[in-house]
Amino acid sequence: MHANATLVNYLHLCHRKLWLHANQIRMEHTSEAVAEGKQLHEHAYPQRAERYREIILDGSKIDFYDPYDKVVHEIKKSDKLEHSHMAQVQFYLYLLRRNGIEGATGLIEYPKLRQTQTVRLDDDDVPVVEAWVADIERIVSSDQCPERIAKSKCRSCSYFDFCYAEEE
Ligand code: SF4
Repeated sequence: MHANATLVNYLHLCHRKLWLHANQIRMEHTSEAVAEGKQLHEHAYPQRAERYREIILDGSKIDFYDPYDKVVHEIKKSDKLEHSHMAQVQFYLYLLRRNGIEGATGLIEYPKLRQTQTVRLDDDDVPVVEAWVADIERIVSSDQCPERIAKSKCRSCSYFDFCYAEEE
């Protein structure tokens, strides 16, 4: 399976970004972003940090999983709720279910917004996630790099210079 949580997230943002990332064209410093996320977590939730475990399932790493309450905890520094965040966490729940852990839930926290979002994976959601996995397989296996999306949605993308270099 090509799919991992990052690719599921990108599938919901931009197919071109998904293709570029999956084909090893890297413009971003993933490890820095992850480290920043961890710092955010430890800073915002010091008393709860020890409750969580990092687990790897089918090649996807879940940074904060609470095995006691079966909760995937995800923190987003974003200042807006994104469907791609929900999709990413639903994919984690799908992986847990595939690996025999039923009934886990997700909790996305947005410290900047002071909001939380609960995520579930119902039976009806499973074929939806499987369709995402199939879409990812199809897109990343293509020889063609997908078209750009509307520039207004590209503002914070690490591939911006790559995609729009000729316009600069
Ligand atoms: S800059 Fe825009 S079109 Fe290019 S990969 Fe990023 S989101 Fe997609």
